[in-house]
Amino acid sequence: MVLRMRKRIYILLCLLFLLSCGKDITKVTIAKTPLPKNFTATHVKVISYSGDDIACMLFAHRFSQGNIVYFEIVPAYNEEKIGAMFNEKVIPVTKRSWGFRGFFAIAPDEKPGTYTFTVTIGTKKIDIPVVVAKTAFPVSTIPMDLGKFSKKEYLKSPEVLEFVQQCTKKKQKAFATHYNDLVRGRAFHPRNVHEVNSPFWAKRIYKLIDSASGKIQTVEHIHRGIDLNGDTGDPVYAMLDGIVVLAEKLFYEGNMVIINHGNGMFSYYMHMDKLYVASGHTVVAGQLIGTVGSTGMSTGPHLHVSLVVNGVQVNPMSIVMLPVRE
Ligand SMILES: [Zn+2]
Repeated sequence: MVLRMRKRIYILLCLLFLLSCGKDITKVTIAKTPLPKNFTATHVKVISYSGDDIACMLFAHRFSQGNIVYFEIVPAYNEEKIGAMFNEKVIPVTKRSWGFRGFFAIAPDEKPGTYTFTVTIGTKKIDIPVVVAKTAFPVSTIPMDLGKFSKKEYLKSPEVLEFVQQCTKKKQKAFATHYNDLVRGRAFHPRNVHEVNSPFWAKRIYKLIDSASGKIQTVEHIHRGIDLNGDTGDPVYAMLDGIVVLAEKLFYEGNMVIINHGNGMFSYYMHMDKLYVASGHTVVAGQLIGTVGSTGMSTGPHLHVSLVVNGVQVNPMSIVMLPVRE
C-alpha cells in the first residue's frame, strides 16, 4: 500500500516537473531555407582590392542607389583596430577571428558617381573607388484611397493625434537603442514566397479627403521599404540575428516588430496579424516572428519590411543574397 502511494507520488512529481519544464521551453520555428524557391535574384557584384597591408572585398546586389554593401577586410599582419569610411562618413567595423567586417548603405538619394571607401590601418589610408549607379525608382501617379486613413477629420481627431504622438515616441526609443554587431551569418528573406506588391522607394500619392467641404487633397509619399504579398496568417521571418526592441500595435504601422541587429542596423515589419516575439527577445535569422496581416494603414494583407543602416533606408532585398559570415 505504502509502496503504491510512493509510486503515485513519484509519477505525480514527474508529471509536475515535465509541465513546469514545458512552460520554460519556448518553441522557436526557423525558416527551412534562407530564400524562397521563387526568389531568383541571387546576383552579387564584388569589388576586390589586394595590397601589401590588406585584402578587401565589397559585396552588393548592385553598387547603386538604395543598396546595402557588405565588406570584409583581411589585414596582412595581426591588427587590433581598423577604420573604414564611405564617402567620408565613418562606418562601424567588427573584428572577427578571420579579419574585419561591416555594412554600409548607399542612400537612395546619393548622387550617382565615383565615391571612396577608405580603410585606415595604423597611420596608413587606403582608398578604394566605388562607382555608384542610378536606380530607377518607380513613380505611381494614381491617388490611393486609404479608407479611414484618407479621412482628414479622422486623422485630426484628438484621440488619434495623441495615439500617433505616443507611437512616435515608442519608435524613437526603439531606434535609439544601441548594441554591438549581433549578426552571426547571412540574412533570410522575410517570407516563404517572394512576390512584391509595392517596390522600394516608390513615389506614391495618397488621397486626403475633407468630408465637410468634399475637397480632395493629395499627399506625396515615399515608400521606405517593400510590400510583400501574403495572406493573413502566412509566416514572417526575422531577416537577421538581433534583439527585438519593439513589438506592439501602432497607429499607421499596425502590429509592428523592430529588430536591432547591432552597429546601427535595424529591420522592421509592419501590418502583421499575430506577433510571436516581445521587446527584449533575442531572435535568430529566419526565426518566425509573427504572421502576415492587414493591421494599421493597410488596404489588404501584406508584409511591409524595411532595412535601415545607420539611419539610411535601403532596399531590404539587397541584403538577402550577400555572403555575410560569422
Ligand atoms: Zn509598405
